Amino acid sequence: MEDLSPTPLRLSVQLCDSASSSFWFFSTLISSRKPHLSPEALERMTVTAPPRPAEFDDPAIPEIATEHVPDCPLCGAANFHTFAEGYDYELKTSRNLWRFVQCDACEHVWLNPRPAISTLSTIYPSTYYAYNYGAKINPVAVRAKELLDVAKMRTVLAHLPRAPQSFLDVGCGDGRFLKVMAKKGVPLARDYGLELDARVLEPLSQAGYQVACERVEDSTLVPDGSLDLVTMFHVIEHVDDPGPVIRKLARWMAPGGVLALETPNLDSLDQRMFHDSYWGGYHIPRHWNLYTASTLARQLKDAGLEPVATIYQTGHSFWMYSMHHWLRYAGTPHRRLARFFDPIGSLMFLAAFTLWDKVRGALGFRTSAVLMLARKPEAA
Ligand SMILES: [Zn+2]
Repeated sequence: MEDLSPTPLRLSVQLCDSASSSFWFFSTLISSRKPHLSPEALERMTVTAPPRPAEFDDPAIPEIATEHVPDCPLCGAANFHTFAEGYDYELKTSRNLWRFVQCDACEHVWLNPRPAISTLSTIYPSTYYAYNYGAKINPVAVRAKELLDVAKMRTVLAHLPRAPQSFLDVGCGDGRFLKVMAKKGVPLARDYGLELDARVLEPLSQAGYQVACERVEDSTLVPDGSLDLVTMFHVIEHVDDPGPVIRKLARWMAPGGVLALETPNLDSLDQRMFHDSYWGGYHIPRHWNLYTASTLARQLKDAGLEPVATIYQTGHSFWMYSMHHWLRYAGTPHRRLARFFDPIGSLMFLAAFTLWDKVRGALGFRTSAVLMLARKPEAA
């Protein structure tokens, strides 16, 4: 099987050679359907350590404390190999070289070592974009994200057997989805949100939503067996130990209730193209557990849930960050082009990559954002 994943050099040639661009377009589109994470393929895979960017020599960037994670967070096995390495290209919060490892037994991927819990305020600075999304990002991009979110919720609801009467959004932010579900008929007394940024919760609480600044693992916000729908979009990859989180959500769910979980997808074209270091979905060092549809299904089944649908969403910001990091840090001669690929503010490529992944998702290709729906069995 020919490996169509471009090396940086090959990608550089392809980007500069318009004659080959249409071939590249179609060949990469087709290649995304191949299963790439077989054990045999992984054995052949070697990781090239990235060059240390000079920017990380800045004495203001600290070397932060780390914590080893010797056992696979998914299956508990103790044997793993290096999967990818890189720096905090996005926010430069630390000068550490970070490493993702992959379990030899179940193929799960996790950050090891990862930042010590004591460093969380360093790797999630108060300027972290998830905390003030609307304030930092181009208003057109904000509006586009709102429309994509509405479409995502419509997709989730279309898969449910009946209209939910109770709802929880984990990582509810400004309460966008809580408000959508209130309009759909969920009573405020059963419209729950968990969010670790306390600043956004006060207005939601005053409006009557059930919100708390707590981790799922520690929370007592929701009665057991009560939730018809739980959404958790781009949260599980940030969690240190996903198993107890999913089990707690399963406990909170009513029989027949559905968990809709979205997370970066390792089994995607952009991940393969930027595998060794620069893939935007790594979000180093803030993503601690990374999945394929297969390992995610296992994580959900281990908590007693039945995966019922796998849907691919757009991974446009991962494409943007991948291109940005590669152009800026890989030693290419195109460093100055990186700024055009910063998803915070660069509308043209943001629109192009969103359309690109929309089309690919609609055609049945796996994108770098997987949305999985899992049901709690009626008998549970
Ligand atoms: Zn494992």
